[in-house]
Amino acid sequence: MPPPDTIAAVKGFRDVLPDESRRWRALEEAAERVFTCYGFGEIRLPVVERTELFARSLGETTDIVEKEMYSFADRDETGLTLRPEATAGVVRAYLESGLAQSDPSARLYYRGPMFRRERPQRGRYRQFYQIGAEVLGRDDPLADAELLVMLDRYLAGVGARATRLELNSVGDRVCRPVYRERLREFGRAHLAGLCPDCHRRLERNPLRMLDCKVESCQEIMARAPVAADSLCEGCRAHLAQVRTLLEQERVAYAMNPRLVRGLDYYCRTAFEVVAGGLGAQNAVGGGGRYDGLVAALGGPDVAGVGFALGLERLAMVAPEVEAEAPGPTALILPLDAQAVGPALALATRLRDGGLAVGLEPAGRSLKALLRIADRRHARLAVILGEEELRARRATVRDLVQHQDRRQVLPLDAGGPELVRALQAMIGGGQ
Ligand code: AMP
Repeated sequence: MPPPDTIAAVKGFRDVLPDESRRWRALEEAAERVFTCYGFGEIRLPVVERTELFARSLGETTDIVEKEMYSFADRDETGLTLRPEATAGVVRAYLESGLAQSDPSARLYYRGPMFRRERPQRGRYRQFYQIGAEVLGRDDPLADAELLVMLDRYLAGVGARATRLELNSVGDRVCRPVYRERLREFGRAHLAGLCPDCHRRLERNPLRMLDCKVESCQEIMARAPVAADSLCEGCRAHLAQVRTLLEQERVAYAMNPRLVRGLDYYCRTAFEVVAGGLGAQNAVGGGGRYDGLVAALGGPDVAGVGFALGLERLAMVAPEVEAEAPGPTALILPLDAQAVGPALALATRLRDGGLAVGLEPAGRSLKALLRIADRRHARLAVILGEEELRARRATVRDLVQHQDRRQVLPLDAGGPELVRALQAMIGGGQ
């Protein structure tokens, strides 16, 4: 428990401490490695955008825009919002930077915090982090398939256990209105059993009824018509080709005819990565095709497809990623006050050479210091006492192997020589 007088973080906002952030970094670095192989470049976006960007891109009837955005008026009254997701920002940047003209088929990935005022629970926060990728300017099924192969390889690469890719097509501007009408008819026939939110969704955005978390609604919607039965010829062919390509690349997936994405602009391919063991918040990521979005934001009629993964949830399903904190290569232990200066000089030279080196304060017994070195998982203990200073040679003990073997490190050697000597001790002990 923190002391009573401290100031707590805001509800739904949390700190990411080194044990967790080390794992996040590994997930981010893996994303960079894999996504780069698929031709993606990183885009760093602002956290704040104009409110109208989200109102226009996500649609006024989505939960996010209706009740989850952190919006405020700037001092000059401009309506601003902390981004709840990044696709809208990517498209804005794509148009604003001129990429839409110079490189219409752009591949961009991003990572960073998103903000939604949802009810916090395990795996759901008000500030959370996403890694996402967007392909703009491609309406062919190959683009969807490539993106999904990349996602599959990334998840496998980070050891994301027991995740499943679910796939669906939600139709396009030709056939989606037909499906929407069929859902509306179904909803009207079952009105009595649907929750008040679904009553609203029925008129404004009936696809969202499929997404409702209320159990009685889910039971009813399990019998609702599925999009697959209403797809037009173009959407059918697109889906069939995506599936053929995924099967060719041995990407495991399951069709989920009730999968819809919460956001209005999705069309055709929709997918989600779900995981067991996460409880109610079982979606690790999701995405799909959004062919109308660029035009809706004032750009040319250019297609897009992308996904976003939640880093908090990804870290939960990839437990092995960087699970162990690496201890310092060497921990320098000055035994008394005279050894402090030489200890820092030694540490600096080794750190300049790229080694992870710990440094303890003086004034404790050798036994106590060695216990600390053990707790810090140091590989080598470098002891600097009176005798060592006189001889100008530190005593080195290997704490992991050959624990009885003592070696020495000449204190007056140059940095590179010191680094080589320590590396040889580690290498030689293995
Ligand atoms: P979405 O942008 O809603 O499609 O979400 C994509 C992914 O972001 C989800 O599958 C989650 O992993 C993650 N995510 C969305 N909202 C939250 C949240 N409030 N807290 C934590 N992760 C979230």
